[in-house]
Amino acid sequence: MQAMETSHADGALLNAGLFAAAICTFLILLVVEKRKPYIRFAEDVIKQSYVTNTTAFMVNNLILTVLRASSLFLVAQQFAGYGLLASWPAGIGKWLAAFALFDLAIYVWHVMSHHYEFLWRFHKVHHCDKTFNVSTGIRFHVFDLLLEIGYKCLFVVLIGVDAYTVLSIEIVELFFIFFHHANIRLAREESLSQWIITPSLHRVHHSTLRSEHDSNYGIVLAVWDRIFGTRLELQPVSIGLDLIEAENFVQLFSLAFITERKLHRLLRWIPKGRKSVPAAPRRTPE
Ligand SMILES: [Zn+2]
Ligand SMILES: [Zn+2]
Repeated sequence: MQAMETSHADGALLNAGLFAAAICTFLILLVVEKRKPYIRFAEDVIKQSYVTNTTAFMVNNLILTVLRASSLFLVAQQFAGYGLLASWPAGIGKWLAAFALFDLAIYVWHVMSHHYEFLWRFHKVHHCDKTFNVSTGIRFHVFDLLLEIGYKCLFVVLIGVDAYTVLSIEIVELFFIFFHHANIRLAREESLSQWIITPSLHRVHHSTLRSEHDSNYGIVLAVWDRIFGTRLELQPVSIGLDLIEAENFVQLFSLAFITERKLHRLLRWIPKGRKSVPAAPRRTPE
């Protein structure tokens, strides 16, 4: 029992360290994209994005902590004894296999989030950012995160891995989420994008056009989009979602409860006021 508690304490400590490293990565990317942005968005638009997205992140985490949402993994772990990898000896091989399966599972979840209206209503909160920057990676609706936690618990049971393993995989995925949302251009990005999801691939996923944003669903590994034929390589003309404007966290939260049809109806009733038009994005020469 004591040994089990020690390993849980080790797991929790390792994850806390990994999380701190992920936050450092976030801050470094923030500085890099500020110094050398790939797309030059209007200053006020990008500032608003940072503020809204960071507020969303903090409020969402507060809600998830109050609900003790991540402890659901520990509950799920009780039923993990018969899962796919349950009989594998603990080690790097098991971690890597769990990582690949988790990445595939999140790919599938992401595809579903785009294809089912019920899930899209929450996921579109992530897509309605008019800019594309590292803070877009923390912009989510709290219900999107809660539903995803339920889905991940199912993963813990089906795959049969320790909850701490899943949490460590999640934090590694967080590094990549920050990375592929960064408004930067990397040297030799084409060759890197053959293996992992890079900013240029994920930028297509934030295109205004549905035909373009319904692509490149991967989080870390580029292989899933290749296998399922959802890979798309191009330069999106505009970023965000047409018709949808959310300027602060409260609007962002409420957005999920307004369907596109209702939005059209609402817009007809709202008097037309002054509307700030963001400057057309300019790309810095490569
Ligand atoms: Zn998406
Ligand atoms: Zn994204």
